[in-house]
Amino acid sequence: VLFCVTRAATISDAWERRIDTHTLLEQARQSDFRRAQNKLLSPLDGIPFSVKANLAVASLPLTAGSAILETNACVGYHAQVVDALLQSGAVLMGTTTMDEFGMGSLGINRPKSKTTTSRTKNPISGWHRHTKRFSDEEMIKMILHSPETINTRLQQDDESNVIFYSPGGSSSGSAVTVAQQAALFSLGSDTGGSVRLPAAWCAVAGLKPTYGCLSRDGLVAYASSLDTVGILAPTVSCLSVVWRELLQQQLRQPRQDSTLRPFQHNSIQTYSSASTRQKLLERVKVAVPTAFVIKEMSQPVRDNWKNAARRLEEMGATVDVIDTISPQVLQQALAAYYVLACAEATSNLGRYDGFRYGSTADCDRTNAVRDIDQPQSKFSLLEQQYAQTRTRGFGSEVIRRILCGTSVLSSDHYHTHYEAAAKLRAVLAQQMRDVLEQYDLLLVPTTFNMPPRIDEANSIDSTAMMANDIMTVPASLGGFPALSIPYGHWERAPFAMSMQLVAAQQDEQKLFRVAEALQ
Ligand code: GLN
Repeated sequence: VLFCVTRAATISDAWERRIDTHTLLEQARQSDFRRAQNKLLSPLDGIPFSVKANLAVASLPLTAGSAILETNACVGYHAQVVDALLQSGAVLMGTTTMDEFGMGSLGINRPKSKTTTSRTKNPISGWHRHTKRFSDEEMIKMILHSPETINTRLQQDDESNVIFYSPGGSSSGSAVTVAQQAALFSLGSDTGGSVRLPAAWCAVAGLKPTYGCLSRDGLVAYASSLDTVGILAPTVSCLSVVWRELLQQQLRQPRQDSTLRPFQHNSIQTYSSASTRQKLLERVKVAVPTAFVIKEMSQPVRDNWKNAARRLEEMGATVDVIDTISPQVLQQALAAYYVLACAEATSNLGRYDGFRYGSTADCDRTNAVRDIDQPQSKFSLLEQQYAQTRTRGFGSEVIRRILCGTSVLSSDHYHTHYEAAAKLRAVLAQQMRDVLEQYDLLLVPTTFNMPPRIDEANSIDSTAMMANDIMTVPASLGGFPALSIPYGHWERAPFAMSMQLVAAQQDEQKLFRVAEALQ
């Protein structure tokens, strides 16, 4: 804990709220005491973790990264997953930065007051400057194998001369805290890729579990039919320990999320570890779907993908290239995802009106007309109050999505947009399910590009930003579990590349087994 506390201080831009050090050290002391008595509560007892700011922590405000929820009031209850980890003795370090309400891929959709000085940075940032002093190889070694060194060196530098890169989003702070060892694992949320993308860009492992397997109780809703709580950790084995602990704790707690589905027992078991690896992959069948080869994908990513497939084969797995997932359907999946996610977000965010939830804006009453005087008026005082609260409270990306959602749900567009997207989702899910009946896993890259520079990220238009999600949304639309691991690295840049494994629902165990072998 002490180690993480010192690391936590070096990445102040990745925390939304931190638990005070006294409380942390007291928890660590209690855990040490239990250890001395051989009475540890679980394998996670005394292990520091962080959670994304859209999960409720009793002693902290629940902001979901939005100005509309910016308050000093504490929520007073824990999200069920947070509670489960605390019951296991894990030590909560604080909540982490995120794109507002989980909407975004770059970690830059944040309240205005927080955008300039406190952008969450990719911990790998700053490498350009160092290339003057170190060779690429040295840099890559330092970053991948001893992050402490790079951190110390970075601190010696004048920040203004360093080029910073996006950590990915929306679980930006969660990925950064894990990559910088300020927490040994983190909880994020993944609606269309928000755990897997930042995990990939910050070179850690990230799991989006089967939809409905981890309780969403206490998670601020974005798109309820897609939202999942995800886990980020430095390694696959570490991820699997957290996963198992969460499932086991959940069995002991009352069901507080109506979409929670009982997990088959075999999925909770430990997967076999390194010594039997070779043998285990012998019966594993992996599909490489050609539909995921999109034109934006550069040659290095394709090569890395081939290389991963080859490695699995070397370890005894059967790897087949398949074309039963239609490229047309896959290409439209991204649009379908955004139609559905925006529609659901419109509905979910309706509650932030300044009365039921959210802070109320001071209303400018000059142009307002009292309801009582002119009941027919278009702009009553109440409506003005709503409008100002929401205009000031929500960031531009959130507003864009609310408008988009309202439009696709309107009677003009409902059939052509919303229904069409829902149908496409069903077709894609069925095609993926068919493949996963014959194969254990799908192997695809998590992302096809490197993180953009933070100073350039703002000029990336919203549609281009959405394109980042093309590799991750298919698993989300089908509710399938997906795991991203760092695999390979970009030539002449210190960023890790990544691979993603997708399995049938509740087959997380297979993901862990194969990912660990590949890692
Ligand atoms: N980037 C995607 C979006 O903005 C995914 C977000 C998420 O998974 N929370 O919707």
